[in-house]
Amino acid sequence: MARYLITGVAGFVGSWLARELVGRGETVRGIDNLSSGSLAALAGIENAIEFLYADLRNPGALEVACKDVDFILHQAAIDSVQRSIDDPIGTSGVNLEGTLHLISAAQNAGVRRIVFASSAAVYGDQADCPIVETAATNPLSPYATQKLSCEQYLANAFEFSGIETVSLRYFNVFGPRTAAGAPPAGAIAQFAAKMFGTDQGGPILYGDGTQTRDFVYISDVVQANLLALRAPRETVAGKVFNVGSGRAHTIRLAFESVASMIGYTGEPRFAQARPGEPLRSLASLEAVHAALGFQPAVSFAEGLYKTVSWYRQQLSSRPAKPRLERRKAERKPLLARQAGASAAAKTERATRNVGRERQVDAQTFADAVRNGELELFYQPILDLRGSRIAGVEALLRWRCENRLLTPAHFIHLAEEKGLTPLIGAWVFGEACKQIIVFQRSLRTDLRLAVNISPLELEQSNLLRTIDGALSKSGVDYSCLDLEVTERTLVRDCSTTQQNLAQLRRRGVRIAVDDFGIGYSNMNYLYRFPIDCIKIDQSFVQHRGHARVLDGIVAFARALGVRTVAEGVETAGQLSYVTQAQCDEAQGFYIIRPIPAGNLVQAIRDFEAAHAPERTPTLRLPGAALAAIDASSAWEEPQ
Ligand code: C2E
Ligand code: MG
Ligand code: MG
Repeated sequence: MARYLITGVAGFVGSWLARELVGRGETVRGIDNLSSGSLAALAGIENAIEFLYADLRNPGALEVACKDVDFILHQAAIDSVQRSIDDPIGTSGVNLEGTLHLISAAQNAGVRRIVFASSAAVYGDQADCPIVETAATNPLSPYATQKLSCEQYLANAFEFSGIETVSLRYFNVFGPRTAAGAPPAGAIAQFAAKMFGTDQGGPILYGDGTQTRDFVYISDVVQANLLALRAPRETVAGKVFNVGSGRAHTIRLAFESVASMIGYTGEPRFAQARPGEPLRSLASLEAVHAALGFQPAVSFAEGLYKTVSWYRQQLSSRPAKPRLERRKAERKPLLARQAGASAAAKTERATRNVGRERQVDAQTFADAVRNGELELFYQPILDLRGSRIAGVEALLRWRCENRLLTPAHFIHLAEEKGLTPLIGAWVFGEACKQIIVFQRSLRTDLRLAVNISPLELEQSNLLRTIDGALSKSGVDYSCLDLEVTERTLVRDCSTTQQNLAQLRRRGVRIAVDDFGIGYSNMNYLYRFPIDCIKIDQSFVQHRGHARVLDGIVAFARALGVRTVAEGVETAGQLSYVTQAQCDEAQGFYIIRPIPAGNLVQAIRDFEAAHAPERTPTLRLPGAALAAIDASSAWEEPQ
């Protein structure tokens, strides 16, 4: 059975293609960096496709994405003409270079055919309408130039390597789920969203409204793609085809039609015609009909009706609760294939329940330390700017009678009995030994975060313990983050102060863990040198606390310290903390705490599949955020 890869799968056309293929029982993999697409667009099919959260500019991710694939439907792009004018280099990085990376990965993986979403923008303004594919191209914007170049590279690829490539020049595609909660793209979606009031402000008409467009309904675009996948090599490979309706309508007519369906009586706001947009546009369908058998099936009026009905339904169903499956899927780790991670997660869940019933006495615990029953798990920390795993946090586990206990079940007792310095010494020794192995295997300067209890920090021999562990293993001080709690810092103990100051002088960074839940008096921030604030998960997971999170980030900025968002459990939370400009994040949605033995592979897999190599940031634009927000990803974790 054939396997399909859809790039930009969480976008408008990509998600429609995914639905169609899944409905036909096909095996579908999708890749998207959610920069403008939304997971909400995949609601209902999220469990039926393999989703890779990754960027086109990451060749490693594309290698993974193309593995065992027969056909690629390449939809991913930054499709804003204005953005391409403002930032030709950045948009070219995605639209053109991203496509080149994809072609290369596809060739290496032996992919049979790539069907590429090109654009009628390559024609610019044409004297003769309808426009035939052989018309001289006239790209009026960097976006159009990028699409045209991609077509040509794809034709070259066919000529020189034999991979079958087909480019489809989409005219004005419209239909339901245009942007799944993001600001509507395209005139019709914009009119509907604004007339229904789901998008702020009145509908806007650019220019005088007399410009003509060939509006093609989304299901016809899907049909054209499927035909392009199936058509014989000799008829389509290396070629370009129009995908339109073969009919032209003025933008003003589109406005009035949508208004009459909705019952909107207001006038549009007129705005200056946008640069890079032609006056007339109409597809000739002769060639595409002859080669692919393409024939649009949905009329303009019918398409409008379907689109408007969808917007109406969206409105009436608000605020609908997201389906449980969708919420669960959102919470799946980004990389579902983490080696051993799911088994570890299962053990973790079991432990949490078991541990609650368990009474631990101090003697048993002291024996456990001596008998080597302690173990370290590690949770990776994602750098939200470089999109890489920047470090790991060592998290203590106690393997007790074949069960794995988390600190919640024993750390208080250990502290009460004065055992935390004993545990701490073990944790430092073990973590330093292991981090060196991780760093060498991954060839990075992965940071190590270690939690330290108040009692440990009050020990006068703490420096000796840490110095010993670092020098024995060869770990540099600058790789170490010490996570202290607010509770520690408010105790105002002079030994603690001295220890922290000395460690900082050596290059160790000090982080305040679970920030925001401990104390309203933050005088300690003046007494202690702090490098990082780890924002407590309650501010990340509860929608009502979003403003507090924003405030903490602003506050940290003012102090010149980094922020780490803890407890990221959903895509929505990840996009929110990214948008809020946290520096780093950790949580079950990224990677769960996992045993040391699984860590290197988990990080490798994660970075291969997700981290854009040359993407400066994972920051999602407001549009994607709004989309995820609209999908109610903020629901309380269960
Ligand atoms: P912490 O330092 O804030 O560590 C993060 C805790 O949040 C970990 O719990 C981790 O499993 C959990 N976590 C990570 N991602 C998520 C998420 O997405 N959702 C939720 N709900 N939880 C998430 P864990 O491992 O049970 O550790 C609990 C606490 O125990 C730690 O909180 C830390 O304060 C303490 N601890 C862990 N290891 C050590 C240690 O070696 N020494 C000392 N003194 N304390 C430790
Ligand atoms: Mg911690
Ligand atoms: Mg914490």
